[in-house]
Amino acid sequence: MKVVAKGYLFILLFFVIFLGKVTGSGRISETIIKVGILSGQDRIHVKCNEKFRATDIFSMDALELEPEKDYVVTVSDGGLKIGEKNTFGKIVRFYSNKKNSFIRINGRRYRDTVLATNDKGKVTVINELGLDGYLFGVLPVEVSPEWPLEALKAQAIVSRTYVLNNLGKYDSKGYDLSSDIFSQMYRGVEVENSATNRAVTETIGFVLTYEGKLAKAYFHSSCGGFTEDIKKVWGSAFKYMEGVTCPYCKDSPRYHWEVDVSPELIKQKMNAEGYNIGDVEDIKFLSRTDSGRVDDMVIKYEGGQQVLSGHRFRMAIGPNVIKSTLMSIERSRPAFHFYGRGWGHGIGMCQWGSKGMAEKGKSFNKILKFYFPHTRIDRWSY
Ligand SMILES: [Zn+2]
Repeated sequence: MKVVAKGYLFILLFFVIFLGKVTGSGRISETIIKVGILSGQDRIHVKCNEKFRATDIFSMDALELEPEKDYVVTVSDGGLKIGEKNTFGKIVRFYSNKKNSFIRINGRRYRDTVLATNDKGKVTVINELGLDGYLFGVLPVEVSPEWPLEALKAQAIVSRTYVLNNLGKYDSKGYDLSSDIFSQMYRGVEVENSATNRAVTETIGFVLTYEGKLAKAYFHSSCGGFTEDIKKVWGSAFKYMEGVTCPYCKDSPRYHWEVDVSPELIKQKMNAEGYNIGDVEDIKFLSRTDSGRVDDMVIKYEGGQQVLSGHRFRMAIGPNVIKSTLMSIERSRPAFHFYGRGWGHGIGMCQWGSKGMAEKGKSFNKILKFYFPHTRIDRWSY
């Protein structure tokens, strides 16, 4: 291996902190977050538009890499290999200290630095970046950049609060957040847009709080007319997620939805989730929450019945098939016909509703106060 640098620990630490400070233009943003972007890979392609460097984070051995050259990273003897002959330990950091440089992983650009790790014989890739730089790559996936600025700002504050609440969620895997629906969708520089970047930049430092603590800032695509009242489930500490009547999300393409699901598919999906049901004969909804969502339901099958929550049922069949639990059911042989309103769990901010409110001239303050009553928008150091 061509080793060009050792003992760079202090310089590197300074560099990482510095990156955090400049991310997001203007105010200091010190929190560096780690986002898992790929896992289980046999190989990855790494490239950069400027000169860059690969550093073994334990030995601090480093390798200078050429701009615009494609490097293939594979696993090798418990460590990693760059190209044919450059072997490293288990974790390698890629970075460039040139302005406007981005590390490309499999063709996608990422801000700040990227870690490649050997995780049980496969390559995992983690993007380390400042919190607001991360939000640049989240907002355009969560909402349309075409939406009014005030709705984008409301989303920026909600997403920022969500991140701060979920730091360390995937500690066991070596990162804070995943880049899929289990955290927030994150797609790096490729999806960035000037409108969503502006919404992040203009709200830097602001989060949603309740009684001096970060609020649980949940959100969903559209509520279908009523957001879910969560305090019965989670207790009065979550008074700020009282359900509200939302007349603003009627433009949502999923305001009304309907779908036919066969009894065979229901049986197959349920059993794949660990249930053990026979041929489905009937389904009945037993109770509803205050917002009208299915609370308990029963699946009657040959030889027995299974009572479960509407939420568990939706997750088992698929949240993109059964779009919400604000729904009704009819038997239309041979299938079951489900029809309902809205898309998502209905808790917290209705994203299509925030768009509707912004179109009616409401500010991001008003939007957040509407969906999260009793909360405050506060400055937060991070
Ligand atoms: Zn709504």
